[in-house]
Amino acid sequence: MLESTMMDYQLTIPSILERARRLYPAQEIVSVLPVGVDPATKAPIPGVHRTTYGKTYPRVMQLCNALAGAGVSSGDRVATMALNSYRHYELYFAVPSVGAVCHMVNIRLPVEQICYILTHAEDRILFIENVFAAQIPHIRQHAPKIKTFVVLGPCPGGLPEGAIDYETFIGAQPTTFTYPYIDERQASGMCYTSGTTGNPKGVLYSHRAITLHSLASLSTELLGVNSRECIMPIVPMFHVNGWGYPYTCAMTGAKQVYMSVFTDAKNIARFVAEEGVTVCAGVPTIFLGLLDELDRAKSAGTPHQLPTLGTLLIGGSATPRSLVAAFSDRHNLHVKPAWGMTETTPLGTVNTVQPGDFADDREHKYDRMTFSGRPSPLVELRLEDDDRNEIEWGSGQSGRLLIRGPWITGSYYHNPEATAATQHDGWFDTGDIATIDADGTMMIQDRAKDLIKSGGEWISSVDLENELMGHPAIREAAVIAVAHPKWDERPLGVIVLRDTNQSPSKADLDHYLLERAVAKWQLPDAYEFVDEIPKTTVGKFLKRALREKFKDYKLA
Ligand code: ADP
Repeated sequence: MLESTMMDYQLTIPSILERARRLYPAQEIVSVLPVGVDPATKAPIPGVHRTTYGKTYPRVMQLCNALAGAGVSSGDRVATMALNSYRHYELYFAVPSVGAVCHMVNIRLPVEQICYILTHAEDRILFIENVFAAQIPHIRQHAPKIKTFVVLGPCPGGLPEGAIDYETFIGAQPTTFTYPYIDERQASGMCYTSGTTGNPKGVLYSHRAITLHSLASLSTELLGVNSRECIMPIVPMFHVNGWGYPYTCAMTGAKQVYMSVFTDAKNIARFVAEEGVTVCAGVPTIFLGLLDELDRAKSAGTPHQLPTLGTLLIGGSATPRSLVAAFSDRHNLHVKPAWGMTETTPLGTVNTVQPGDFADDREHKYDRMTFSGRPSPLVELRLEDDDRNEIEWGSGQSGRLLIRGPWITGSYYHNPEATAATQHDGWFDTGDIATIDADGTMMIQDRAKDLIKSGGEWISSVDLENELMGHPAIREAAVIAVAHPKWDERPLGVIVLRDTNQSPSKADLDHYLLERAVAKWQLPDAYEFVDEIPKTTVGKFLKRALREKFKDYKLA
């Protein structure tokens, strides 16, 4: 091999941090935080905290010094149980900058599962939001490797015994820090899958993976983040690196707005307007709520004025076509579906249809806008049938989706069984079933475990849900398999109505689906109307709970 003359420059998170403070010192990081409780409604009252990339930098340096002073060094795991805010952002940068691993823990899990994760990851320090501080004694007992507890945000009732306040932890530290040498391949961050089946599995991200993922996110072939944007990531920062936004925004100097606990539609609309947000990112359920709120305000004659907002990036679950059309037709907002997972940092594909595309054929445009999108630069996709033969793109056939690339996990942390089950010849098997068009446009059909196997044929629960959620009487719809003596499994539709007095009949819904090209044999056999569909900790439909609830369901 003839070696190149290029420098062996390491791709590391400190280089993103340094760029942000030098190039975009005045660009803002806004956090909407609870500042009290409304005595009448008991709802938290939002207050705005404002800082900039310039002002954040010395605090990150102080945090680096405090971590080093607490004995944290290369490879150590440092856990966060934190809301979206500037403090979590500071941890995102400081922990990897001392060579340690920022482990973002899902705060919505039961405390027993949190303790399992903290113990499995062998975290040494826990940065914990004040609202969860009461859990410290329990965590201390069940995750004994954690020696230091640092509380984020004020604790008016006093700190739990042995815990340190975050501002005290960093306050007396110098505002300069010399980074240790960091190899781009070393771990910088860690997330666990949400454990919908079995115990959560750990994924370790590297400096290199985060840097390349951020760089790719700047491309218009992916997210097109740039310094003129104001981004509101409504996705929690513990969910797959906050979809990369903290790093991507810093790399390009985009303004960021963090909503902590204020993720309801009214507060989203309010702070989008007040802060001039251009892009919101979250799971579909967040946007179903936002759509209702925008529709309500419009029909009440007091529409929300959101002149800056252009794009809604929707990921984590399939985006219903009706949502794409409703936002576009009624509110002039462009929906951009994206697909990824904990194991993919997370961005795998993004739908890159632009607002002006297919201007002469709106229906075709909405069809195209509903796809999961095309692979990011540097990421490769592959489809396989059940015998592991490759399926050609453009064949129309669906199969298991495999992926590889510099920010795709090659194993699970200390979990050889799960690793062996998912790694095949350098590819990661996603567990999703998809189709890929000749031009590389991918569409998730379903998770393999959610597909309904009816008489040897597959029925996509996602397809049925997306069509049903376009029905004017339906707010939310989840479709699950129930046992059938002849066909093995048949679909059951579980429906939340907009108005419980306006319940469509089975015949109405069959007619509605048949009109939308659903085949007769794919129609749900029955519907159940419920007040609420259970959700996962990140707001996706929790089908496991529905399957449990309806496990003895008898089809007529
Ligand atoms: P969890 O398994 O806890 O939901 P992830 O957040 O990693 O953890 O979820 C990844 C999965 O979410 C994917 O494998 C896929 O099934 C689903 N998903 C993510 N984005 C999309 C999308 N745009 N369309 C359909 N499904 C999606």
